[in-house]
Amino acid sequence: MTDKIIGLHHITAVSGPAKENFDFYTKVLGLRFTKKTINFDDPFTHHLYYGNYEATPGSAITFFPWQGVTQGSPSTGEATVVAYAVPTGSLSFWKEYLNKAGVEIISETGRFGDKSLLFKDVEGMKNELVEAGNIEAIRPQLHDSIPENHAIRGFYGTTLSLADTSRTAELLQEFGWEKQGEDGDSIRYSSKPENNLGTVIDLKKEPGLNGHFGRGSVHHIAFRVPDDNAQQEWRQKLIQMGFMPTPVQDRQYFRSIYFREPGGVLFEIATDTPGFTKDEPLGSLGTDLKLPPWYEQHRDEIEKRLPVL
Ligand code: ZN
Repeated sequence: MTDKIIGLHHITAVSGPAKENFDFYTKVLGLRFTKKTINFDDPFTHHLYYGNYEATPGSAITFFPWQGVTQGSPSTGEATVVAYAVPTGSLSFWKEYLNKAGVEIISETGRFGDKSLLFKDVEGMKNELVEAGNIEAIRPQLHDSIPENHAIRGFYGTTLSLADTSRTAELLQEFGWEKQGEDGDSIRYSSKPENNLGTVIDLKKEPGLNGHFGRGSVHHIAFRVPDDNAQQEWRQKLIQMGFMPTPVQDRQYFRSIYFREPGGVLFEIATDTPGFTKDEPLGSLGTDLKLPPWYEQHRDEIEKRLPVL
């Protein structure tokens, strides 16, 4: 029997200009810039990774800054909210801080009894800060204006906007996630990873969102498995279930398979291994442009064409 899939690994979205994205996620939200690399399928585009200090699975929000991309808007069949976990008692700080930073709070009414702040990031993507328990011990990035006890630790979870939630719900149950309840149009599923990050997925019935994919759109959400063996088991299981997972792709810091879940969202299953310290030490993550070996011979041209952060 295959083990459970215990949480989110990363979430990847499309951004506008790289510098604006970098400034918002490091200077406003206070995340650590954990990896500067390229889109392995499009090497003249950055792939920017942000997370907590140790870049642990369940903390990585990543962006492809696409040149000249038009503004996206939410569509049915996408992840439409990315939620970050902050320690209990942090939201009053964040409300004042985001106000000062010029970030408008859209809502302070969370679902399922959550204490949360909803706002849009610089890309127009809906972000949420949610108070979560048992995360204080996770090491955050230090920031001049954000006290360490309030800093973001990683993901709380995400919201998937779907025409029909039932088959996605079945899939999450296969993954081992448990239904927590219903609130309005949303059904909540949760998991219990050891680090308490990326534990919540809300399936929201939103059949009529006719947006388009672009800046601020989530490209895919990735779930975590410990290693290649677990990933292979899940790949076989998905095939037996009628899905069409891709062959394993080497993403340097993890290995990935992708498939389209029944509601239309692109799902990935990524390995925790080898992790982000594969090619630079923990103390200097995000410092140098990292290329996979097969692009090293083109480093000069790639560096010339990438925008400055
Ligand atoms: Zn991914």
